[in-house]
Amino acid sequence: MGMLQTDIAPGTGPRLGRAPPALSVIVPCYNEEDCLPTFLQRMIAAAEAAVGPDFEIVLVNDGSGDQTWPCIRAMTQRYPNVLGVNLSRNHGHQLAVTAGLSLSRGDQVMVIDADLQDPPELLAQMRAKMAEGYDVVYGRRRSRAQESRFKLVTARLFYRLLMRLSEVDIPSDTGDFRLMSRRIADKLNAMPEHDRFLRGMVAWLGGQQAEIQYDRDPRYAGKTGYGLTKMLKLAVNGLIGFSVAPLNFAVVLAMLGALIGVGILVYSLVAFILGEVLPGWTSLALMTVFFGTGQFVCLGIVGAYLGRTYMEVKQRPLFLIDEIASSEKKTD
Ligand code: UDP
Ligand code: MG
Repeated sequence: MGMLQTDIAPGTGPRLGRAPPALSVIVPCYNEEDCLPTFLQRMIAAAEAAVGPDFEIVLVNDGSGDQTWPCIRAMTQRYPNVLGVNLSRNHGHQLAVTAGLSLSRGDQVMVIDADLQDPPELLAQMRAKMAEGYDVVYGRRRSRAQESRFKLVTARLFYRLLMRLSEVDIPSDTGDFRLMSRRIADKLNAMPEHDRFLRGMVAWLGGQQAEIQYDRDPRYAGKTGYGLTKMLKLAVNGLIGFSVAPLNFAVVLAMLGALIGVGILVYSLVAFILGEVLPGWTSLALMTVFFGTGQFVCLGIVGAYLGRTYMEVKQRPLFLIDEIASSEKKTD
């Protein structure tokens, strides 16, 4: 089995000497200085209510341009349960969560956004569901307050398309807000793919998965870190990473081309035998256009997969951590 290529071994962190906590909370943070204090208050309260003091909150700073990292460092000094991780640059939400996952050690792992769009208080409900024997409990958005119409429509379209194309059942209208068992977290850490679409990977892992429905709140402060480019990249990762449908499309196209090619061949032979040979400009032009375009489309699709293979064989670390902050004293 492959392993995540990172600059740290999975499950190692400054707290290795301690027994694993009952709960780890992973929080990707990109320009969240205004959200963090309130988020942390609500998250700590929810975690304490659920498991007492036996939890860790892993705040991953994903190359923010504001005061997020200084803020996280200050939090680690104030709250002993908080672990801060500073990525070397902006790696994107999915890799920030992956970094947090690789450092977390809790028996249960929660992934939640820092902007309070996912209510931390749902932890209680998620844990109750987990106690029924589930490996994963994910939040499904019943409504999304104050999201742009564009985002709602594109998200809806994307999830419908993904559902049709992908080989695994990736639940629609879910994000990465979820609670999972240590077993699932370990398996995620053992999947080395670079183009990560975590909600799809969790679905791919299978096991017992349950949903709880919730109303998605508006962002507490700041603005979205998910621009159009990042959204598109995530969508492409979801589609290509979990479906070979585009490849199959190329195959269908190639077969269709072959069929038409045979038809033209037979026609020209028969025409030749009957002595009706005309300067075949039309058929030549048709063939050129058809096979020309067909080849380009196929090459493009093959290229997309080749590009991903190229990235994978490089086996680069997924991210580099500059620094890890916690209230514990450095030993070196
Ligand atoms: N985020 C991140 N890196 C990025 C973009 C976003 O770690 O490059 C974090 C962000 O801080 C938040 C979560 O991912 O905790 C979801 O992002 P955001 O709220 O901006 O996206 P939206 O909810 O608008 O889809
Ligand atoms: Mg958000």
